[in-house]
Amino acid sequence: MTKPTLLLHICCAPCATYVVRTLREWFEVVGYFCNPNIHPEEEYALRLREMRRYAEEIGLRMFVAEYEVDRWYEAIKGTEQEPEGGKRCAICYRFRLERTARLARERGIFHFATTLTVSPHKKAAVINPIGRALAEQTGATFYEADFKKRDGFKISCQMSREAGLYRQNYCGCIFSKLERERRIKDKGEEVTFPLPFLGAPQ
Ligand code: SF4
Repeated sequence: MTKPTLLLHICCAPCATYVVRTLREWFEVVGYFCNPNIHPEEEYALRLREMRRYAEEIGLRMFVAEYEVDRWYEAIKGTEQEPEGGKRCAICYRFRLERTARLARERGIFHFATTLTVSPHKKAAVINPIGRALAEQTGATFYEADFKKRDGFKISCQMSREAGLYRQNYCGCIFSKLERERRIKDKGEEVTFPLPFLGAPQ
């Protein structure tokens, strides 16, 4: 039986591992790397390069969004000082999911989803309602999930290690980078966010 196609917003290669494998049980998955939140551009290029490499390895077709940094900063304006997980993040999720829903509609893909909830720092209770609302607007179906459950996060770490993937040590935007650096300086200890650093790509 032919599987329905699903457009998957991918935040980074480590998060894609387990989520792609899981969704492939029911869907023909097509990836969408849409992350203009990532700062600086070199880090964006690194995460994208790593995701391209992994996509090729697992035979995943993938679209790549424009790096719309200015629009992203415009969207989150006024929430720069928000802590991790606050209002800025909700806007950031919506920014990326809006584009995913739009591309799905343009390509005639009926289902869309995101890798975001595999991270223990990302709340499904915030992300799923955003996806649901966008689905209502576009007529598509958002695949609601909390991928971190059932050891999803743990398995994604293991799969990433096996694939030798680069894993970042901050979420993505400049504010998350600064927050992490500040915490390290204040406490004098390493802060694991969002996942442990496993080394640079070969
Ligand atoms: S911390 Fe992460 S989710 Fe929140 S605004 Fe920054 S990049 Fe987006």
